Amino acid sequence: MAKWVYDFGDGKADGRADMKNLLGGKGANLAEMASIGLPVPPGFTLTTEVCTHFYQNDCQYPKELEQQVEKALNLVESRTGRKFGDSTNPLLVSVRSGARASMPGMMDTVLNLGLNDTTVEALAKKSGDRRFAFDSYRRFVQMYSDVVLGIEINHFEKHLERAKEKRGVKQDCELLPEDLEKLVKSYKAVVQLELGEEFPEDPKAQLWGAVGAVFNSWMNQRAKTYRSLHDIPEWWGTAVNVQAMVFGNMGNDCATGVAFTRDPSTGKNEFYGEFLVNAQGEDVVAGIRTPQELTIRARQSHGSDLPSLEEVMPNIFRELLSVRSQLETHYKDMQDIEFTIQQGKLYMLQTRNGKRTAPAALQIAVDMANEGLITKSQALLSLKPDLIDQLLHPTLDPKAKKEIIAKGLPASPGAAGGKVVFSADEAVRRCKDGEKVILVRIETSPDDIHGLHAAEGVLTTRGGMTSHAAVVARGMGRPCVAGAGSITVDYAAAKLTVGSVTVTEGQILTIDGSKGEVMVGEVPTVPPQLSGSFGTIMQWADEVRDMKVRANAETPADARQAKEFGAEGIGLVRTEHMFFEGQRIVAMRQMILATDEADRRQALDKLLVMQREDITELFRIMDGNPVTVRLLDPPLHEFIPHTEAEMALVAKAAGVPLDRVRRRAAELQEANPMLGHRGCRLAITYPEICEMQARAIFEAAAEVGRSSKKLPVAEVMVPLVATVEELKLLKGVIEKTADAVKKEQGITFTYKIGTMIELPRAALQAGRLAEMAEFFSFGTNDLTQTTYGLSRDDAGSFLPEYKAKGIVEHDPFVSLDPEGVGELITMAVQRGRSTRPEMKMGICGEHGGDPASIEVCEKIGLDYVSCSPFRVPVARLAAAQSALKTKGEQTKQSSTKATKPRVQNFGPW
Ligand code: PEP
Ligand code: MG
Repeated sequence: MAKWVYDFGDGKADGRADMKNLLGGKGANLAEMASIGLPVPPGFTLTTEVCTHFYQNDCQYPKELEQQVEKALNLVESRTGRKFGDSTNPLLVSVRSGARASMPGMMDTVLNLGLNDTTVEALAKKSGDRRFAFDSYRRFVQMYSDVVLGIEINHFEKHLERAKEKRGVKQDCELLPEDLEKLVKSYKAVVQLELGEEFPEDPKAQLWGAVGAVFNSWMNQRAKTYRSLHDIPEWWGTAVNVQAMVFGNMGNDCATGVAFTRDPSTGKNEFYGEFLVNAQGEDVVAGIRTPQELTIRARQSHGSDLPSLEEVMPNIFRELLSVRSQLETHYKDMQDIEFTIQQGKLYMLQTRNGKRTAPAALQIAVDMANEGLITKSQALLSLKPDLIDQLLHPTLDPKAKKEIIAKGLPASPGAAGGKVVFSADEAVRRCKDGEKVILVRIETSPDDIHGLHAAEGVLTTRGGMTSHAAVVARGMGRPCVAGAGSITVDYAAAKLTVGSVTVTEGQILTIDGSKGEVMVGEVPTVPPQLSGSFGTIMQWADEVRDMKVRANAETPADARQAKEFGAEGIGLVRTEHMFFEGQRIVAMRQMILATDEADRRQALDKLLVMQREDITELFRIMDGNPVTVRLLDPPLHEFIPHTEAEMALVAKAAGVPLDRVRRRAAELQEANPMLGHRGCRLAITYPEICEMQARAIFEAAAEVGRSSKKLPVAEVMVPLVATVEELKLLKGVIEKTADAVKKEQGITFTYKIGTMIELPRAALQAGRLAEMAEFFSFGTNDLTQTTYGLSRDDAGSFLPEYKAKGIVEHDPFVSLDPEGVGELITMAVQRGRSTRPEMKMGICGEHGGDPASIEVCEKIGLDYVSCSPFRVPVARLAAAQSALKTKGEQTKQSSTKATKPRVQNFGPW
């Protein structure tokens, strides 16, 4: 019989931490915590397969489910010594969602389930606290009505406010038991009025109602948005966890809290969290009461006058510390935990790997390796390469003037400025119009997720470091200042005020999420400084990776940045990019508009000077590392404008008649320019362009060779080659130029001539091309375009639909297609190396900076990847991870021989 329900509790569990796909993250970890002996209230998990079945069968459950739930419930009853719906000793449960990947706050939860007019009396009697019992009851009726019955929460809030007014009190907790009892009655009357039916009294009916609501919430709008933003497939489904309730709101020996086993902002090895005495979980997140710190140290450093847990409940604090170390030793990662203290006893309600900032992730990985908790390899593998991107966020220029108008918590690092908006929808709208916005909210909820994503940064006036805004912004890498309480937000008037300052929608605000500061106007930012554990991680990555990492760069500034980030050379200099600016474009246009070779050579002489200067600088910056300079590649029409007015300007600047510009523009028109007169085809028809470029490279090499300690490593690369004959012809031109320069300058230098592989024909002909080429560089942008027959400029209009329909999993221009393009590369590598075994091969398409593609390159056996300068650190880490994974796989496959070549065999050719 299929197993749909998994039990946990009492030191035992059916499930394990590695069963997240089936039990969801929460369920799997509850099972794991139960089995390692942590104090987990007993419960059971309805698997994600139930969810799949539910949606595949018209919202029907599998037929065995009811019986299995019944059995599991009986077990919880026997483990707690309570009975569901019992009139003297009732069991109450919580019903919570739990998908494979954490989706904080996106789906529904019901607490205190099992309460009705009978069981509430029993709870009052057993707890000896009538106020507590009716407070739990009114919370339950409100939550159930909202989540399961779909009645808006403000219907209930009105009654609550009225009750407080009547009693003349401000806080919910000041209401008397009789007030709460009356409130429950009014709440139920709301249900009757809104739905025309009674609030369900039968605990079993309540249970199935809540289970159904959780499964249904998998398809609510905010869950869908969250999934699409985080690449979580719909078919994963959610599990449902039903667990015996424990109460943090039964008196002053009770509490509830959340904690991270290390600081999620900095990564420091310090226990970090918040708690509230006499409260339930949602009170901490809601930010209604100010939470207290866990440790004396944190209380002192935050200047709080509320006592810490270490002070108010020292024994529980010690127990929690031991849970903390037990969890870290067991999971080998920083944990994010939820706990409840009921009448002096600690219960663990959740653990999961904690979300953290990028600096914290690196710090934690390095510290844990140094503490011996994990190995260096595990530390490297624990980091998502894209985290490195977040480290590259700008910070405020320390020299810049800033007028701080408010301070809040430094919830997520980085600085950002933008126009103030007060709603998520407005953030999205303005972002679509190309504006940068700062989303300002009193507090955020999961309904704001699209706005958080669209905004440059988030500012809230309420809530702590574990509030929704803080957690989500940190996960997204958005700067966030949370809980800036001195700011008053007026949504209706679309303005915020703090002291005498008023900021209306559309005005500019800057926030510093690393310091918690809020400033009026735009404060300049500076690029990030990479140090500390970043350097250590990069060093460890460099120790294990096989592939080199180069950069695609053409300007000295880019090359310097790339070098600083650890680039080991330049894998692609797109020489055409050197011709776009200022006077350069004029000379370029003169060259294109030339009517004969003599005219063209005159323009080329001007270009030679500029090109030589640039390349000299690149050789110097790269200081003995290879620099691959590619011959002119794009179709020439890209340099000529098309409107009359612009053509007139060009004619004037280039000193030619307007008519010639018009005629040349018309001549250069092509039906399919990407498949037209571009790449090496330009050099074939205008060999003098190739000559000029080769001369620029060699004269630069001669100059640097003469004046620098380290000899330059010049690589001349021919683009878009399809036939051996093309390469042969151009190689002849390049070599002749090299010989001429050597003779003229009386100096010798070394260089290599290679080709890009960007066309399937080139991949097929790789064996023969390798007779001519001394290296291959895979131009996977064009190779993807030509393999798929998919225009790289036009695919964006329909690829999203391909993704949505599951035809492609990823955009093939972002993540290398291993089955098509990858196979062609594999074959070309093998064919090339069989001709020239030591041939150097790399990739310089955009895929060179994409971690998944880098793994494909590692498996294929490429020597290097080349990517944009800011991706270099990402690529270094991704290359290290790929090497570790590939070696791991090899060791698994054959523990006796771990050989390097990873190329598949394609048979005879
Ligand atoms: C490529 O095609 O992958 C490549 C690097 O060249 P470009 O993007 O300049 O066409
Ligand atoms: Mg290309």
